[in-house]
Amino acid sequence: MADNCIFCRIIKGEIPSTKVYEDENVIAFKDINPAAPVHVLVVPKQHIDSLEALNEENIQVVAPVHKAIQEVAKITGVAEQGYRVIVNCGPGAGQTVMHLHYHVLGGVKMGEKIL
Ligand code: AMP
Ligand code: ZN
Repeated sequence: MADNCIFCRIIKGEIPSTKVYEDENVIAFKDINPAAPVHVLVVPKQHIDSLEALNEENIQVVAPVHKAIQEVAKITGVAEQGYRVIVNCGPGAGQTVMHLHYHVLGGVKMGEKIL
């Protein structure tokens, strides 16, 4: 847990969020500024700054996150039609919250290109 991290504070319940899914390792909540009809952030409860900070010691957070993404897709109704998962890694890629998180986007027909 990092005291000044907004996602750690959401995990602790200090800041409200619209929770979509939670288990012992992962929390998922609606993005406050959605870029698509479905826009959920899937966040490991362990504070890890970014994908670049993954290492042998903490890599085990990734598998439960991917399982949680499947659950979120089911819960939000986009599992069948498809969805996009984005991880911004570092400020140069637009990461604004330095706690590893996966954007799950869907509910709209998406183009084939990322950018
Ligand atoms: P990123 O730019 O990849 O770091 O994504 C951070 C995301 O967190 C942005 O899409 C924000 O809209 C979202 N966000 C920031 N604060 C909150 C919050 N309190 N509740 C939900 N989403 C948030
Ligand atoms: Zn954090």
